[in-house]
Amino acid sequence: MRTAMNRRQLLRMLGATAALSAGGGLAGCAARGGKDADVIVLGAGISGLYSAMLLEEAGFRVLVVEADRRTGGRIFTLDTVDGRPEAGGFEVGPMYARVLAQVERFGLGLHGWLGESIRYALHVGDRLMPASAWSAAQENRLAGEFRARPPFTLASALLPESSPLPGLESWLEPEVASRWDRPYGDYLREQGADEAALALLSVGLAADEIDQMSLLWILRQQKVREFSRDAGRLQFIDGGMSRLVDAMQGSLHGDLELGCPVEAIGSDAQGVEVRCGGGRRLRADFAVSSLPLTALRRIAVHPGLPERQRAAVENIPYGHGTSVFLPVREPYWEEDGLPPSIWSDGMLPRVMKWQSQAGEYLWVYLSGIANDFCRNNPDDVVLEKVMAELYRIRPSMQGRVEPGAIMCWSKHPWLHGTFAYRGPGDVRRYGAAASTPHGRVHFAGEHTSVLSMGLEGAMESAERAAFEVLERVS
Ligand SMILES: Cc1cc2nc3c(=O)[nH]c(=O)nc-3n(C[C@H](O)[C@H](O)[C@H](O)COP(=O)(O)OP(=O)(O)OC[C@H]3O[C@@H](n4cnc5c(N)ncnc54)[C@H](O)[C@@H]3O)c2cc1C
Repeated sequence: MRTAMNRRQLLRMLGATAALSAGGGLAGCAARGGKDADVIVLGAGISGLYSAMLLEEAGFRVLVVEADRRTGGRIFTLDTVDGRPEAGGFEVGPMYARVLAQVERFGLGLHGWLGESIRYALHVGDRLMPASAWSAAQENRLAGEFRARPPFTLASALLPESSPLPGLESWLEPEVASRWDRPYGDYLREQGADEAALALLSVGLAADEIDQMSLLWILRQQKVREFSRDAGRLQFIDGGMSRLVDAMQGSLHGDLELGCPVEAIGSDAQGVEVRCGGGRRLRADFAVSSLPLTALRRIAVHPGLPERQRAAVENIPYGHGTSVFLPVREPYWEEDGLPPSIWSDGMLPRVMKWQSQAGEYLWVYLSGIANDFCRNNPDDVVLEKVMAELYRIRPSMQGRVEPGAIMCWSKHPWLHGTFAYRGPGDVRRYGAAASTPHGRVHFAGEHTSVLSMGLEGAMESAERAAFEVLERVS
């Protein structure tokens, strides 16, 4: 974390210098007319907006172009839905220094966990049961010491007690990668997990299959969790995560164009040219692309990316996730006496009773292979099937839980997934290639973060990309 602080201080210092010299230095970089901005930022998720803010603070004229009709990307508070649920990122970890700094800067409020902690009933082998029935259940096909563990605690029991990665950034070091960048499933088998255990360990995983996930990625997540563990508690932004996006967007001075999908990016010694839908061309000295790789791989880049970077953009996998939010009209759990939430190895891996400032609702999250049906069917068909399955496995919900809102990230026209992860060998193959500047194009986005993950990782990446641009002109 100290590294980040020093960088930020340096960034501020360079910002002051760039602001003073913006007229001369920047104009010299693009000695040609018709420039639309000094920097074009592609994408108005949190990393794009934060890059734009930092670059503006440093004196650059910034233009943000966003394909969607709204800003925020994978942050999306559903303001008009019962309980005002979060369709995307919302948990603010105790180590989220950058997110927390912006929350403070904009005078936003924070609150802790509301309501009771999540208590699961188990739905395994198509039987719904209390967790206390699990160890003796005939659906429990686990062997030996594993039998007594609720299935959602198996993964932590099989991982090393503390992460073997020396530091937060170590996952990118070649010697670390050569040891740990291998199939997660192989490691679990070595720890004694049989096929029954592997089936339960696959539930809720971002990858469709356990062997599509790198052990190194799991260990990276574990390392990040360890750092946060003693640092404090999770927090949530009052009014929803989109309030931070609104404030960040509102603080920008330059233009922000919505409904402007980028189709091509060109870069030469003089500057960059960005082509948007409808053939519109925008020119600047530099571009910062905050587009997820799922979007970038659909865009033409001239000149083409070097082979390793191109392969990284094409192949780094993204998770699939669908959130379904359902208003609860009556406490169905009082009817059947089971805990309100459900952990399942079936079609609906996690059903969580959730409490926000705006009320209570059920959050059904379908990830990994359980998401397959959502990816391939229209939302109304998915919602109908989710309701039918819920009523089937838990009849007490009938008449007490209603259909609500649905967000399938895999079908999102600009995002096509939830978040980047790494498959076995990906770190060895691609390292940090996806974030290497290409000509005058720099890259941000959660998929390029090194130390942090999620929202904080997205902001970390924005800081790095803005810093790279500053270095070019200082
Ligand atoms: C269901 C879910 C839950 C999550 N929960 C958490 C959490 O609790 N805590 C946490 O820390 N993180 C969480 N995350 C992760 C977090 O939301 C993301 O890491 C973060 O929002 C990513 O920001 P970003 O700026 O990198 O990308 P994005 O938010 O994806 O921004 C990219 C932008 O680029 C735009 N774009 C795409 N294609 C084009 C194009 N061709 N032209 C122009 N614009 C384009 C997109 O529309 C989008 O606005 C969650 C994510 C999901 C999906």
